[in-house]
Amino acid sequence: MSSSPTYSGRHRAPGRHRAPRRGPRLPAGFRGGFVLPSAAAAALVVTATGATVAESSPAHAALTGNSTTMQARSAALAEFDHTESVQQREAQSSAVAAQVLETQRRAEVARIARDAERRAVAKRRSAAAAVKRAEAERKSREGWIMPIKGAVFTSGYGWRWGRMHQGDDFGTPVGTPLHAMSTGRVVFAGWQGGYGNKVEIEYWDGTVSVFGHMSSIGVSVGDKVAPGDLVGASGNTGHSTGPHLHLEIHPNGGAAIDPAPWLRDHGLQ
Ligand SMILES: [Zn+2]
Repeated sequence: MSSSPTYSGRHRAPGRHRAPRRGPRLPAGFRGGFVLPSAAAAALVVTATGATVAESSPAHAALTGNSTTMQARSAALAEFDHTESVQQREAQSSAVAAQVLETQRRAEVARIARDAERRAVAKRRSAAAAVKRAEAERKSREGWIMPIKGAVFTSGYGWRWGRMHQGDDFGTPVGTPLHAMSTGRVVFAGWQGGYGNKVEIEYWDGTVSVFGHMSSIGVSVGDKVAPGDLVGASGNTGHSTGPHLHLEIHPNGGAAIDPAPWLRDHGLQ
């Protein structure tokens, strides 16, 4: 450190009590023992501040290169490792969660597919059952039955005693229930000459049946009937030689035909 000539000259002046008044002079308060204590105080402040900083800041420690630096680095690395492992664990957890979600999603898709298949099968079965039912209903609706049960054939279709007999006769006690032969509609119900009490029914295929000599009539014109419906009772009214059912069959409402072959064709005799 180089000394200022003025400064040196002042201290080297022998026998003098006062420094020569040369150069700038400090105010009295700044001379003598004042400077050193001030410098010491400043150094103490720095030390205190430095210590405080060192304790509180790893950055400061890193600058100074002491053991605190290594600790800070280790802590930072540990923190990094911790952070990394947390991130890894979180990533693994996310992967597992995603796997679970995917598994659930696939299970849901499979369940929906199974349900759809079950519904489709049920629908097909239901449709098949409905077709069966409809067919059964149609058969039932379009089926044919004899108008009386246990009747005895007594006279057939054809010329008899000089006149045309238009139907078959079935001997049966008066009051025997008479039934509609299939699904149809009553087109005549009442008294008509030699027929006595007579009921005509037009069926679904156009065939018209005639019941004659009835003791009672249980239907009116326009009534709808199903196979087996009761339409009245057999009797001996009109030109009749004994209790019986006189049955005529008129295909498509036209001329009467021999009932026997028609009955056979319809599975009735
Ligand atoms: Zn007859």
